[in-house]
Amino acid sequence: MTDSYDLVVIGSGPGGYIAAIRAAQLGMKVACVEKYVRLGGTCLNVGCIPSKALLQSSEKFEEANHTLAAHGVKVSGVTLDLDTLLARKDKVVTDITKGVEFLFRKNKITWVQGTGKILAAGKVEVALTAGGSQTIETKNILIATGSEVMPLPGVEVDEKQIVSSTGAIAIPKVPKHLVVIGGGYIGLELGSVWRRLGAEVTVVEFLDRITPGLDLEVGKQLNRQLSKQGIQFKLSTKVTGAKKTKAGVTLTLEPAAGGPKEELKADVVLVSIGRRPYTEGLGLAEAGVVLDDKKRVKVDGHFQTNVPGIYAIGDVIAGPMLAHKAEEEGVVFAEILAGQKPHLNYDAIPAVVYTWPEVASVGKTEEEVKASGVEYKVGKFPFTANGRAKANGDTEGFVKFIADAKTDRVLGCHIIGPDAGTMIAECALAMEYGASSEDIGRTCHAHPTLNEAVKEAALAVSGMALNM
Ligand SMILES: Cc1cc2nc3c(=O)[nH]c(=O)nc-3n(C[C@H](O)[C@H](O)[C@H](O)COP(=O)(O)OP(=O)(O)OC[C@H]3O[C@@H](n4cnc5c(N)ncnc54)[C@H](O)[C@@H]3O)c2cc1C
Repeated sequence: MTDSYDLVVIGSGPGGYIAAIRAAQLGMKVACVEKYVRLGGTCLNVGCIPSKALLQSSEKFEEANHTLAAHGVKVSGVTLDLDTLLARKDKVVTDITKGVEFLFRKNKITWVQGTGKILAAGKVEVALTAGGSQTIETKNILIATGSEVMPLPGVEVDEKQIVSSTGAIAIPKVPKHLVVIGGGYIGLELGSVWRRLGAEVTVVEFLDRITPGLDLEVGKQLNRQLSKQGIQFKLSTKVTGAKKTKAGVTLTLEPAAGGPKEELKADVVLVSIGRRPYTEGLGLAEAGVVLDDKKRVKVDGHFQTNVPGIYAIGDVIAGPMLAHKAEEEGVVFAEILAGQKPHLNYDAIPAVVYTWPEVASVGKTEEEVKASGVEYKVGKFPFTANGRAKANGDTEGFVKFIADAKTDRVLGCHIIGPDAGTMIAECALAMEYGASSEDIGRTCHAHPTLNEAVKEAALAVSGMALNM
């Protein structure tokens, strides 16, 4: 049987499903090929959403155990019902992925359930989940197949004793000792979840710092805060092997620069050393689609591959592997296809680490600005001097602005503190409009809010902070 479409999207993650919806809104006949049992991709099924559900629940457990008493709220006999906690997370995932199914129906997008393979420009063959195959004809193909967990040689994931992030959101019993390999945001978020639920957590990181993409000062502060909470860090250390027994896993560690080996025992090991683009079985080589040196699909500024009519967006192409980056690319791609002239500003894409305190940033780090040779000024404001943070009892961290010394244009903003992920939105908006730090500092912010720390840090760029 052959069907014909304007656009066939392969993959229904935040890149693919958003592109499909925008294209349908613009009048195109759209199908989306997805092989997983649910729509929504990594983000909704095993990524952003379930990890945030677990962070939220574990935060509540931590509050009940440790911080509510300081507010005069006395609770006793706090116990953990892990089954309920995990079931709640699963329900959140089911509900939100059903929401995408609803949006597909609303926008008349056909979900073709199965694995897509590009036969040539204009032709996608789907090995149907229900059995058999279907060939779809289409004017345009969008590859939105995302990414997969990067494997670590010698430490094979079995999703029981040695887990990837997918296994780490479903561990059925709180491990006594969880070793996280990799100090990136996924490892730190999931490490925080299990530490709050009672595990001893050790993070082993090859580099001499955690969260390598972050502003160094902010990264160091996060390291200090997480250490204070009890997470142990072994930096400049590599894992070279893993031995499994019934009792657990014994890892072999070595200094990153070489040296004597040591052993580290764990009940569960989480491998989270990064993600790599996922293009397996897509037929890209046969279709003549070129990849770059990191095996990502190579595209031009309009998301077009080297083969006319075949496009790609999201984690499978270059750029930060973030859901909102994939979504924006999905919108921009669909609008370009419809003949519009949209623009995506890659300099104003925020990034958030949902630990506590949270870390959020947009624009350049101080190290990047320094390396670029541009003269710059820094303005900082601590949450200890913010009234709302004091009232809330969450005063850890600060806001840091980096602005061009000559023009005052904001080049970067970095926040470590309560709800940093929500606060960064105003900084991204400001950067999108090319704001100066003075523009932000002179914008009236409601009192008492955490965002007043953003205003004060912006004022601090020119030495005008008021509450410090
Ligand atoms: C634990 C974890 C936490 C995360 N937290 C965050 C966060 O807080 N914020 C954030 O911005 N990002 C987060 N991310 C990253 C985010 O999930 C990704 O950046 C995002 O999902 C990428 O979207 P995408 O559309 O490119 O691909 P994906 O979401 O990976 O979707 C790709 C889809 O394509 C399907 N597919 C692949 N090949 C085929 C084929 N041949 N045929 C049919 N279907 C196919 C897959 O089944 C999948 O459903 C997290 C990731 C993980 C793992």
